[in-house]
Amino acid sequence: AGKEKAEDKKVLQVGTEATFAPFEFMDKGKVSGFDVDLLNAAAEEAGYTVNIENTGWDAMFAGLQSKQLDIGMAGVTINDKRKKSYDFSVPYFESTSMIAFKEGANIQSAQDLKGKKIGVQNGTTGQFAAEGVVGKNSSSISKYETAALMFQALQSGDVETAVTDIAVALEYVKNNPKSGIKTVGDDKEFKPEYYGIVFPKGSEYKKDFDQALNELYDNGKYAEIYKKWFGK
Ligand code: GLN
Repeated sequence: AGKEKAEDKKVLQVGTEATFAPFEFMDKGKVSGFDVDLLNAAAEEAGYTVNIENTGWDAMFAGLQSKQLDIGMAGVTINDKRKKSYDFSVPYFESTSMIAFKEGANIQSAQDLKGKKIGVQNGTTGQFAAEGVVGKNSSSISKYETAALMFQALQSGDVETAVTDIAVALEYVKNNPKSGIKTVGDDKEFKPEYYGIVFPKGSEYKKDFDQALNELYDNGKYAEIYKKWFGK
């Protein structure tokens, strides 16, 4: 792979959830972000082109299950449960959970989530992190379809706090400086997690993308893309 002419390249269908800046978000009608740049660079290395569609989170996983999608790229954390149903690339980004809250909610650590109304994106590690503190079926947790709806609920006061991925929480605050939203992490409660590109079980493409990601680490292109989005 890698040396074919553009017209010979196989087009892989990719699903994402594009309210997850800076990893994926809609910009002038197109999905943009760190994940998009990284996936395009990896596809180029591997000799594919990718067609990225904003399917949403649940439909992305359903599309991978049914093999209508070849790839899921959405800041998806690699974990044992998901590994039972999907294949993952080598890790491409380290993350952890972070708490966002409305000024005045007085949250200093994860334990302060107790007794608060918490918003999460349904089926994400933010939900699992919150459940780790307040219990799995806690009625204090409201689950939203997208990260955007979760932030809206926080902004409108429907919830007092939200738990999401660190870079996404920080990006929201950066993009909404007048929102009165603050953030706090908790290294004791929230463990490191790692994003991977998701494939249907047994996908023939995993090997090529693993190799491509490793090449991007070695040839400096990963560092370039990282710098573009995270500035260091
Ligand atoms: N990294 C988190 C997870 O995999 C959130 C991903 C997302 O919301 N796009 O659960």
